[in-house]
Parts: sequence; C-alpha cells; structure tokens
Amino acid sequence: MVKDWNTRTKLVHEGIRRSQYGEMAEALFLTQGFAYPSAEVAEARFISSGPDEFIYARYGNPTTRMFEDRMSAIEGTEDAFATASGMAAVNGALMALVKAGDHIVAARQMFGSCLHVLKVLSQFGVEITLIDGAVNENWAAAVKENTKVCLFESVSNPGLEVIDIAAVARAAHSVGAMVVVDNAFASPIFSRAAELGADVIVYSATKHIDGGGRALGGVVLGRKEFVRGPLETYLKHTGGAMSPFHAWIMLNGLTTLDLRVRAQAANAEAVARATDHHPKLARAIYPGLEDHPQHDLAMRQMGSGGTMICLDLKDGKAEAFRFLDALRIVTISNNLGDAKSIATHPATTTHKNLSDEERATIGITPGLVRISMGIEDRDDLVADILGALEAV
Ligand SMILES: *Cc1c(COP(=O)(O)O)cnc(C)c1O
Repeated sequence: MVKDWNTRTKLVHEGIRRSQYGEMAEALFLTQGFAYPSAEVAEARFISSGPDEFIYARYGNPTTRMFEDRMSAIEGTEDAFATASGMAAVNGALMALVKAGDHIVAARQMFGSCLHVLKVLSQFGVEITLIDGAVNENWAAAVKENTKVCLFESVSNPGLEVIDIAAVARAAHSVGAMVVVDNAFASPIFSRAAELGADVIVYSATKHIDGGGRALGGVVLGRKEFVRGPLETYLKHTGGAMSPFHAWIMLNGLTTLDLRVRAQAANAEAVARATDHHPKLARAIYPGLEDHPQHDLAMRQMGSGGTMICLDLKDGKAEAFRFLDALRIVTISNNLGDAKSIATHPATTTHKNLSDEERATIGITPGLVRISMGIEDRDDLVADILGALEAV
C-alpha cells in the first residue's frame, strides 16, 4: 500500500482490491461465504487465512476489507474492523478491552446510547466513573490502578465541547489504560486522534462517512494486535460485522468525504458568524468561533470548527419549535453528517430520556437546536436560518 499519498487520493484509491475482471469501481461481493477448491484448503483456511482468503462475511469479506483498509489508511492506524453500526463499534471496542473488576473513566457529555453501554457493563462488574471530560485535570484525578479505558467523544453531542485527546492520553497512559475516542463529530477529515495518542478510534459511519443518510455502519481503528486480536475475536463471534452492501455504500461515501466535510464546515462557520450575538439567541455555539471555550484546542486538534453548530434560543422550547418550523431548507430530523442540512431539538428527541438535571449538566437547554450543516449553497443556508430566526 502506498503510504505517502495525501488524504484525498487515499479516499479515492486506497484499499481497492480488483478481481480478475479488472473492474474500475469497487466491486460489491454480496456473498456470506466462499467456496474452497478442496477439503484440504478449507481445513487450512480455518487454521490461518491469508490476506485474500475469506471464510464467512461475519469474519470478513472483500468489500468490507476494502472499506477497512481505506479507513485505516486515512486515519493513520495499523488496522480497522467494520461494524454494523456506530454503536456496534463502541460496544465491541469496550467489550474487547474490559472484564469484571476493571475500571472505565468516561466523559459524562456523551451520546445516550454510549452511556447505556456503560450502564450494561456496570451490571457485569465493570466500575464506571463519569467526569466532566472538558476539564483535563479530571482525567488525571479519576484514573487508578485498575483503569483499563478512558472513553470520550472528541467533540461532544450535542454541546460541542471539545475534549483534549493528548491530555487524556497522558492521564490514561500513566496507569496503562487505553484511550478510546468516539470521533463521530470530528469525522476522519478533522481527526488527528491517532497521532495525539488515541489507542482506539471509533466512528459511526452512518454519519459523515456515508454522507447521504442511507446506511448504518461503524468502524473501530487501532493497532493490529488489538484489531485482529481481541476486537476481531469478540465481533466475529457476536455478530456485529458490517454488511458487504453497506461497506460498498461507505466506500462510495469515502470518495467524496473530504470535499463534503470541508464544504459542510465552511457552511457551519458562515452560519455561526451570521448568527453569533443574534438578539433571539442566548448563544451560538461553534468551536470555530473565537469565543468558544475550547476554540484554541479545536484548532489544534481538528484544524477546523467542524460541521456542527448549536443555536440556543433565548426563550426556550416554544421559540425553538417556532424556529424549527420556519426552516425551509434545513430539515427537522436527527441524523448528522448528511449532505442535507438537518436540525434537531435534542431536549425533546435524542436526549429526551435524560432528566432535566442531566440535560442541564451537559448544556442541553430547552431552547437548544443542533444543526448538522449540509453542502447546500452557503448564502441559501444563511438566509434560511436568519429568516427562521426572524420568524420566531
Ligand atoms: C450516531 C452516533 C453514535 C452511534 O452510531 P450509529 O451508527 O447510529 O449506531 C455513536 N456516537 C456518536 C457520537 C454518534 O453521533
């Protein structure tokens, strides 16, 4: 594999496996199994299989492997395992790393389903400590001898707090723990997680990687010894593998990932600047704005403010709903990373199950609207959002 290509080239070419037909596009090997020319070959393959030898799609498949190879090439990790969804990736990574009696330190500002996985682990004897992950000292204070994992989203959902990967890595590595980063909001384009010390990086491919809101998928990236060791063993036996069809969709998504994500981030910045200090807003939250509390860290860690913004309407839920209902281009839904702009009211949808108090601690006010900026025309998006604020 050519390693000196830049990201855009890798996104288009890396990992391609051509069949004897020399097809130009990535082939969709929609097959669960593989024929063996003899019983001896079948026996040998179950003992050890080479890079072009597959057994069963739950273990691996040529299309899925193309996606894994392309992902690890752009992320700068040794290997990757593709999963059925982002949550299969988070669950798989944690299950492969901890056992009863181990300790996990996690940022409390996290996606609800990730918190649920931690709750399940606690029922099986894994000790969990939740901290405010945006305060670096909290990680150093929480790790201890049996800490095996430090887990966080590098940019939190939906509050857009940026967590310092290098600082967490220093604390985690001081006790021999692994740093697991859920990098969904940063996307692989704005990720330097591996070079900053993350040991394991997980993505919901459902988001920016697909980019069209079509298919569920996820991926776990890290060192070969972990990915092809405990992670693969856990995932291949418990059924969290990605479908070859979804891998084929994700490969197509990766081709345009850099173009899309940079266009989305430029739109997000334009909307953030146009709405900052707007009289209807308590706050416009965007890590690319100089007044964001972790602006410097965001620039160091991502080189961008990312594709997501939050607008916090002053007068709460009714105003937020009027704003959402007045939008004409930005669509009310709950995915993110899509080419289409999407607005979400976390308090009544994605984060509905939290208590008022829990929502308040992670900054989810009744007026908060999260917007995943799409690739539509910048002026149209700014006009749509300013127009909807006017209508409030
Ligand atoms: C969406 C999301 C997930 C879960 O991904 P799915 O593909 O929906 O399973 C996990 N973490 C974060 C930060 C997400 O945004």
